[in-house]
Amino acid sequence: MSVKFRKLALIGIGLIGSSIALAARRQGLAEVIAISTRKSETLEEARALNLGDIYTLDAAEAVRGADLVILCAPVGAYEAIARTIAPALEPGAILSDVGSVKAHVVKVVGPHVPAGVSFIPGHPIAGTEHSGPSAGFAELFAGRWCILTPQPDVPPAQTEKLVAFWEGMGSDVEIMEAGHHDMVLAITSHIPHLIAYNIVGTADDLETVTKSEVIKFSAGGFRDFTRIAASDPVMWRDVFLTNREAVLEMLGRFLEDLSVLQRAVDSGDGPALESIFTRTRAIRRSIISAGQETAAADFGRPHEAPPAPAAPVFVREHGGGDDA
Ligand code: NAP
Repeated sequence: MSVKFRKLALIGIGLIGSSIALAARRQGLAEVIAISTRKSETLEEARALNLGDIYTLDAAEAVRGADLVILCAPVGAYEAIARTIAPALEPGAILSDVGSVKAHVVKVVGPHVPAGVSFIPGHPIAGTEHSGPSAGFAELFAGRWCILTPQPDVPPAQTEKLVAFWEGMGSDVEIMEAGHHDMVLAITSHIPHLIAYNIVGTADDLETVTKSEVIKFSAGGFRDFTRIAASDPVMWRDVFLTNREAVLEMLGRFLEDLSVLQRAVDSGDGPALESIFTRTRAIRRSIISAGQETAAADFGRPHEAPPAPAAPVFVREHGGGDDA
């Protein structure tokens, strides 16, 4: 099924909003794209990048007449935005979002959704550690999953239209219940980020290893954590504030397994360590065969010659940051 919305309104125009704008325009998925954001500098940046057709600081004005509205701001801003736009939402419109948590979004936005508006929260499992309107690129969603969590009263035809929109941008779409989404993402995305923030913080605090040594020898595994730990602080603060229960449940499981590893290292239990590492290697291989990662050495990272004799270069790459 192909789809073309009359007016697409994007509230928030950072990495995800700008990527949607670029992909929707390239694929002809909307006749008009209206962009609204909080700061005038950001709006001007979006205008200079020619991301849309209408630019306004007034979110209600952006959504007026829109048949698809997607919230692309940090989740912590959603409730206030929902309150602002609710009176301007048109019956028959689809209201969606891209937030990394879903039950909280249903809880804070749901009560403001007027009758006749289809509320279908969403989450593209795609991202990078870069932020802002200039970070977006049209291919961000290609070959990546997008999870949609249609609310019970949404007509199936409306969900099909949103599925077609995401498929038009190259995504594969899965329908899921919001609470289940939060459990799955807690283990696949939120806990890995927490671990990355922690390990990079610990390395930074060490007294016996200098900062220059941490940077110099980062290729030994640490570098991949630094990429994740460079993700947007505001967005990730909001993720942990709004997916508390699922994160704590998964963190409990993680800490139990970590103490199993600690005991195996402490007691020199080689077979236990080897058996765990063999199991985890198989998971990596199944992610590659599912097409969600490349088998190329060093995570398929494109290498550029570092400007000698500088420290290792962190190469900008796509598809790695948040949820990818
Ligand atoms: P981002 O690059 O930091 O952009 C956020 C945008 O929201 C900016 O344009 C910011 O503009 C705007 N904004 C902030 N507060 C606002 C408010 N109160 N009202 C209107 N606009 C506001 O962030 P992002 O990475 O695109 O993330 C946006 C959403 O996508 C988040 O909910 C996140 O959970 C989700 N997500 C992110 C990723 C990822 O990898 N980054 C992946 C999947 C989903 P101003 O400069 O005007 O404040």
